[in-house]
Amino acid sequence: MHFRRWWGAAAMLAVAVVGYVPVASAADEKQVEQYLQAFYESALWHDGRNAVWVRKWAQPLRVRFSGLTAEKHRTIVLDRLAEMTQIAGLEYSVVPSGEGEMNFLVEFVDTAGLTANGRAAGCVAHTYSGPGNVYAYAHLVLNLRMGHELNHCITHELFHALGFPGHPHAVDSVLSYVYRRADMTDADRMSLAVLYDPRISAGAFQLPAMAAARDVIVDKLIARGEPVAETRDLGRKFVRNLAPLTTSLADKGDVALQYQLGIAYTFGQTVEADPVTGLAWLRRAAAAAEPRWRTMAMQAQAMVGHAYMIGRGTARDAAAAVPWYRQAADQGHLMSQQMLGVAYRDGVGVGRDPVEAYKWLSIAAQHKDREAATYLASLTPALSAAEIEEGRRRAMAWKPAE
Ligand SMILES: [Zn+2]
Repeated sequence: MHFRRWWGAAAMLAVAVVGYVPVASAADEKQVEQYLQAFYESALWHDGRNAVWVRKWAQPLRVRFSGLTAEKHRTIVLDRLAEMTQIAGLEYSVVPSGEGEMNFLVEFVDTAGLTANGRAAGCVAHTYSGPGNVYAYAHLVLNLRMGHELNHCITHELFHALGFPGHPHAVDSVLSYVYRRADMTDADRMSLAVLYDPRISAGAFQLPAMAAARDVIVDKLIARGEPVAETRDLGRKFVRNLAPLTTSLADKGDVALQYQLGIAYTFGQTVEADPVTGLAWLRRAAAAAEPRWRTMAMQAQAMVGHAYMIGRGTARDAAAAVPWYRQAADQGHLMSQQMLGVAYRDGVGVGRDPVEAYKWLSIAAQHKDREAATYLASLTPALSAAEIEEGRRRAMAWKPAE
């Protein structure tokens, strides 16, 4: 304990010393901050309104064109895609209709009636994530009505579809509403390289993603020939300032950020581990009542249950964990259904009840949850035919709570 405190003080001292010595020029620092800002606004925010976590492709893009495609449009799309996938280290191919599965549909339309999120839109990119926040499918709708802005539209939507749902305002980017560029900017190219660096994991939250982004940017600059010793520490202040910024946004009611802070403090991601503070943020997210935060609140309820179950940020208390698991399980949270099933099976935090165990484990197993299926298989021999029948009946009657 004392050793850890001493170590913390030594680390703070090191930071202070770095602060005093003018190792890098203000211009370099500014450059790194611009790259960080571009990545933050484009990859980790959706429309500047919703905090998101990292999403990216992990498989080759299999592109299909449809609609009113002329050769020249197809060429622009493929030229852009060639450049983007090269930076990202992704492969792509064109899959004509009837010649195998595609996962990246590029559709040209000519309409005055295109909308996105209830607003009139020039062009639209829809993306669909599979498990682990990895993209499974994208659908781009490119509108010929955009006329001379069609090139901008194509680059802009392709960039969205590769993992950038945001529209930066403070940075010159093809995603910006302010600059209507036809091509990626230097900051965009860096963002793309950062997102697809293996250090940035799909599903990463903002704070750890930004800490990793800083490392990647610094390494890229050093690889470009920037001086190692001076460049190594650039952008640290920007990343440090994100924790208080995130806290103030969470405090104003952003439930996704409340949840992210809950996880960050509980497990010491980017911030110093502080499970009590972590649990306080998770409880706050778990209590969110607005429909748009429903999924987030459900995940937070499961994590509060987990904190009680393992005794993190609070005393270990299985009986306190079960109602949290049940609240999330009732809404369809898979892991909570499994935890609840196991609690009933073993009589942990709740009276032993093999029929309820059977019910929850079969509901979880229906979602192709292999672990739940294994538990279910091990439970079944201990049950009578009538108990299994009753467990099945309850599982069939179950519907997610509204
Ligand atoms: Zn857009």
